[in-house]
Amino acid sequence: MDKAIELSDGHVIPRLGVGVWQIPDEDTAGVVSSAIKAGYRLIDGAFIYGNEVGMGKGVEQSGVDRGELFITSKVWNSEQGYDEARKAVEDSLERIGLDYLDLCLIHWPCATKNQYVETWRALIDAQKDGQVRSIGVSNFDPDHLDRIIGETGVLPVLNQIEVNPRLVQTAMRAENAKRNIVSQAWTPLGQLASFDAPAIQAICNRLGRSPAQVILRWHLQQGVSVIPRSTDLSRLKQNQEIWDFELTEKDMVAISALDEGVRCGPDPAEFEDE
Ligand code: NDP
Repeated sequence: MDKAIELSDGHVIPRLGVGVWQIPDEDTAGVVSSAIKAGYRLIDGAFIYGNEVGMGKGVEQSGVDRGELFITSKVWNSEQGYDEARKAVEDSLERIGLDYLDLCLIHWPCATKNQYVETWRALIDAQKDGQVRSIGVSNFDPDHLDRIIGETGVLPVLNQIEVNPRLVQTAMRAENAKRNIVSQAWTPLGQLASFDAPAIQAICNRLGRSPAQVILRWHLQQGVSVIPRSTDLSRLKQNQEIWDFELTEKDMVAISALDEGVRCGPDPAEFEDE
């Protein structure tokens, strides 16, 4: 399997990255630089995580060329609207200390607020101005996707959604794929809730792999990009060792059968928090 996916705009994103949600700003530089030194190239951040400064320091401390890295940030709900989102991109760039983001996402649609089309127009213009290489969305339902595509003619390259064995998201992943949008899984390990499931344990025992490795491999084999978070170097490394084994079709079905439609995070149809 190729370790990267070509996006519809021609840019390329690593299939595997590291997420930095819930990592305190003062710890983020250490985690990000360790992850990059261990071989990660995709770092998934957001304004609301409150650690873009630490993320930028980690990028710098890693010593790896900026051009080799793929840095994502996201426009938060309170930053929606054309002017606000243009400023949000500038502020994120300043905090991280970069002159461009590889990917910028609208974090949540906030449909009641009804500003996501204007926010999308801001990302389109930020891309035209070279502040962002690729633009996408997160937590968008098919209706939200169709609206931004219909009103602007510009396709988001990626939709970051919650996916894990308890929330397989077959329909939403198919909706993304149908539109040539890459699905990227947030909370890919599902708060470790399926680690002890007999189906996962049986595969782990047969292959000599950990539950995290088996679940991450399940994501990859479904064509999904993953951004697991760990603040522990040995687990960061463990999560990378997922390229040299393969799950059978039976394994894939057994893991997908753990689907309960249970979310770890909020329902995108309702979430409007500022
Ligand atoms: P993950 O599914 O990545 O799980 C993180 C947890 O798993 C941590 O507690 C970590 O603990 C543990 N862990 C990691 N690797 C292993 C392992 N090999 N064995 C055992 N435990 C392990 O959760 P997140 O919720 O952080 O999701 C990943 C990323 O997705 C976020 O960091 C963020 O970037 C993004 N995200 C996006 C959202 C959106 O709305 N767009 C919403 C939520 C997340 P430890 O650190 O101790 O290893």
